[in-house]
Amino acid sequence: MSGLIRATGVLPPSSTTIKGAASGCNGSCPSTRATSVGDTKAPEQRPFAAVVGCADARVPVELIFNEGPNELFVMRVAGNALGPDVLGSLKYATDRLSDSLKLVVVLGHSGCGALTAAVDIFLEPADYLPLATKHSLRTIVDGLLVVVQAAAKRFQEEFGPDVVARPGYRAALIEASIVTNAALAAYSIQQESALARGTGLEAVYGVYLLDARRVWAPTAGDPSGFGLARAPRDPAAFAEFGHAVARSERIKSLIERGP
Ligand SMILES: [Zn+2]
Repeated sequence: MSGLIRATGVLPPSSTTIKGAASGCNGSCPSTRATSVGDTKAPEQRPFAAVVGCADARVPVELIFNEGPNELFVMRVAGNALGPDVLGSLKYATDRLSDSLKLVVVLGHSGCGALTAAVDIFLEPADYLPLATKHSLRTIVDGLLVVVQAAAKRFQEEFGPDVVARPGYRAALIEASIVTNAALAAYSIQQESALARGTGLEAVYGVYLLDARRVWAPTAGDPSGFGLARAPRDPAAFAEFGHAVARSERIKSLIERGP
């Protein structure tokens, strides 16, 4: 069995901890795991963080953050998209688990297939036709296209119209869209009433880099930052974030060198 579950090169060590980002924990939330093998009473559900992640098999949330049972309330869907089911689950967590919940995390990952599909349709709209009769897939891609458009607009503003001809344009647009999607989801969650009413909950974002096995979290002040970053506070801060992503070393090197 251990051979089946042993890490095969896609897992961390990742130096990112969620507890470190949860201000209410001061870096060390008390463990809520079961205390004894002999316990027969079902433990109360007490996660300290809710995580919206991608369904991608290479991004197992608990393993990346080295957390165990009853510590994370995890929702995983393709492209870590905020569909009705995810938002409903999140609402349950913020309403019913508020005693233990300190943080909401949106975790994207490099090379995300959902964002890659959205970028390819943005670059070649004719490819949308095969999706026309696949409502379930189309719904995911439709929701991500706005993020791709925003990232493409930032590229034009930052590098000029010729950026589309650069060899790494597609790869860079995919990665910029991935982090923009994660930050936008965190921003949207932060604006939700339960979080905006001063409950103390924070929404943060990050992108797990499959090759480096670290969590990248660019901000306007630190485009190369690692860890988890707080969601931009308002539309102006979000625009600054977008420019910072385009100027980041990771995105610039992709544009110049390609994937
Ligand atoms: Zn993905």
